[in-house]
Amino acid sequence: MKNADLSKLMTGLIHHPYTPPAGFDAPQPGVFKASTVYFPTVADMRQREWKDKSAYTYGLHGTPTTYLLEERLCTLEGGAQCLLVPSGLAALATVALALLQSGDELLLPDNAYGPNKALAEGQLRGYGITHQVYDPMDPDDLARKISPRTRLVWLEAPGSVSMEFPDLPAMVRICKTQGVLCALDNTWGAGLAFKPFDLSGHAPSAEPALAVDISAHALTKYPSGGGDVLMGSIITQDPALHLKLKLCHMRLGLGVGANDVEAVLRALPSMGLRYVAQDLTARTLAAWWQAQPQCAQLLHPAFEGAPGHGHWQALCETQTGQGLAAGLFSVMIDARYPQAQVDAFCDALKLFKIGYSWGGPVSLVVPYALGDMRQVWPEHLKRGTLVRFSTGLESAEDLILDLNQALHAHLPLP
Ligand SMILES: *Cc1c(COP(=O)(O)O)cnc(C)c1O
Repeated sequence: MKNADLSKLMTGLIHHPYTPPAGFDAPQPGVFKASTVYFPTVADMRQREWKDKSAYTYGLHGTPTTYLLEERLCTLEGGAQCLLVPSGLAALATVALALLQSGDELLLPDNAYGPNKALAEGQLRGYGITHQVYDPMDPDDLARKISPRTRLVWLEAPGSVSMEFPDLPAMVRICKTQGVLCALDNTWGAGLAFKPFDLSGHAPSAEPALAVDISAHALTKYPSGGGDVLMGSIITQDPALHLKLKLCHMRLGLGVGANDVEAVLRALPSMGLRYVAQDLTARTLAAWWQAQPQCAQLLHPAFEGAPGHGHWQALCETQTGQGLAAGLFSVMIDARYPQAQVDAFCDALKLFKIGYSWGGPVSLVVPYALGDMRQVWPEHLKRGTLVRFSTGLESAEDLILDLNQALHAHLPLP
């Protein structure tokens, strides 16, 4: 091919005359990928406003694909504005970086998602931002720890790993009374187990709904559902608060890939069914564990006697009738079994894979050394080795057979 022909071909491939017919409509939305977005004129470039999603300016500021997912997540969680970030942890970090300055203090529950504590200790502290840990089961402790320097309170329901369900409405009320912003890590509830922006339940009242200020969500878990996507969201109801978060998000250059957004958009329609199925399997397995003498304590908020069960009932049963809980629970294995034996039990499981995260199709198991994770060993937790299970989409019967064989092989009764 001559040079001139090649040039023509190259240009022709880019400025191709074919345009598909308009009006294509199908179950899944088209996927738009862009760094560059074209403007018809310089004047248009100077005028375009992206902050209210009325236009497009640059891939990092949003595409039809990201705007669509943001809107669907607002519907899911009952919020008004949404930001997408590359992981659940990035959502927690963006909230902190947008709202905290040197001299401010942050409060975290003692059972907070571990990496959120590590962010405060390892990163925010260096910026002159201090933090304190409060007892998630004692709203008075939270109230006592709020000072004039407190700018942000993190909430989690239930807490990571040990699964205590706090009195979320009481803690949100304390934050509102004291005028401190509260952000909920809503990964467990996922917008399904309770409404983060309407915690007061059914009772119709003239007062505005009791709502968290921010809901952060690891979309990596239930919204993705595949164990193959990392993404997070930050949802708000207050436009001024959203703008503050959005400007920080833009300045940090946080964006998400269109293929990942597509995967989440494709998984969202089945999320409710998956959540209910994984919840049911978790409860079946938890009930089985309760009958095993090796189980010193069952940590699942929907079970009588589990820490915070009454708070779970009050929030989740009124909001969703029968009451939903995610496919997640922990078992405190009796202290008479040494860690090495509990590890061997986990290793012997065949259907349960050893791995972090949850919400995907495959059931997972992780043993945790809780003593290293908490400032104080909580009175409501028995001593022992904690093992966390997350249920996938396998049959509960098969999962119980798997638990049974590993239990009898490695944690025999005396
Ligand atoms: C998994 C998880 C996160 C972090 O999500 P990543 O996408 O893995 O960064 C945050 N909070 C909770 C409660 C989680 O379970």
